[in-house]
Amino acid sequence: MQLANRVLDLTPSLTLAIDSKAKALKAEGVDVCGFGAGEPDMDTPEHIKAAAIEALQGGFTKYTPSSGMPELRQAISEKFKNDNGLDYKPSQIVVSNGAKQSCSNAIAAVCDVGDEVIIPAPFWLSYPEMARLVGAEPVIVQTTAENDWKITAEQFENAMTPRTKMIIINSPGNPTGSVYTKEELRAISEVAAEEDIYILSDEIYEKLTYDGAEHVSIGSLTPEAYDLTITVNGFSKAYSMTGWRIGYLGAPEAIAKAIDSMQSHSTSGPCSFSQKGALAALKGDQQCVTDMREEFNIRREYMFDRISNIPGLKAVKPQGAFYILADISSFGLKSQNFADRLLSKANVALVPGIAFGDDQTVRLSYATSLDIIKTGLDRIEEFCKTL
Ligand code: PMP
Repeated sequence: MQLANRVLDLTPSLTLAIDSKAKALKAEGVDVCGFGAGEPDMDTPEHIKAAAIEALQGGFTKYTPSSGMPELRQAISEKFKNDNGLDYKPSQIVVSNGAKQSCSNAIAAVCDVGDEVIIPAPFWLSYPEMARLVGAEPVIVQTTAENDWKITAEQFENAMTPRTKMIIINSPGNPTGSVYTKEELRAISEVAAEEDIYILSDEIYEKLTYDGAEHVSIGSLTPEAYDLTITVNGFSKAYSMTGWRIGYLGAPEAIAKAIDSMQSHSTSGPCSFSQKGALAALKGDQQCVTDMREEFNIRREYMFDRISNIPGLKAVKPQGAFYILADISSFGLKSQNFADRLLSKANVALVPGIAFGDDQTVRLSYATSLDIIKTGLDRIEEFCKTL
């Protein structure tokens, strides 16, 4: 088999591997508590489903423009303006098959072979692979729990080389739950502007912030930041629409145009009736978003409290998303070993930090019911006593 080098170098998704192991155990009848989920456990709100059903029944089943249907791009343009203070015309917006495709399009549109992409660790596991797929080189910068798992402007500056093309900022972050402040983002944008480094700002967890933390879009801070930023967002997390596969980006005109071109030759526009659902999500009542955030917040408080009281575990209280990154370094085990043992001995599935570039931690998702969270944490507590 003569596979291309670019795929030989790829690392398969560890989160999916853990997930399939947990599912196999469940299929055998084992009662597994799953903390691996990267998606809200709630159903998509009814009014969004109704819009897609109506679209299907009305025959809205043909190709849309490759960058997405005009009404949706118009609504996204208004959303960027109202929620984020970002001025993107509909022609600067490309709708894709999930924010995942938006991120990968953004990287492919600006990075050449040999360019470097700065990625703060712990990172969402797809970023380095997306960079590698286009021949770019991920440059991983380790952040610390002491700084709430956020890269500083100084660390960014120190990681820069003449080949640096892009930095990826994901706030609120997966797997850390960290939310960057306006001041932190401003400092990062100033460093980027000095050397014209592009910023990929992945804002998919924007709507999930807690304790009054404010989500800020880095591209809105200065005209220089705007010119360098590609802002990614989507419907998966805010509206519990992971299976619908609708994400989007806003970018300077030339970048958006290039991405539209790329997309027109690869996947074409995303699913027509999913786009109608997305339009209904933006236009409809936003109470569903508030309700989901409140539910996540209850679980976050509970899970953080429990983790903080289990000897050997510690965590930074996350201000966003639906994950807690727990430090397991006191046990002296590699994160994969910890996760494997926990699954086989205590029937609890979580994601080893090594998947996110940090072997001292494990990620627990609270996108699951409070009952499962309670039982799972009881088991983790007992398991940790045996280490
Ligand atoms: N970015 C981050 C940080 C994510 O966690 C995810 C989903 N796991 C995505 C992007 C992709 O979301 P989707 O493709 O479902 O819109």
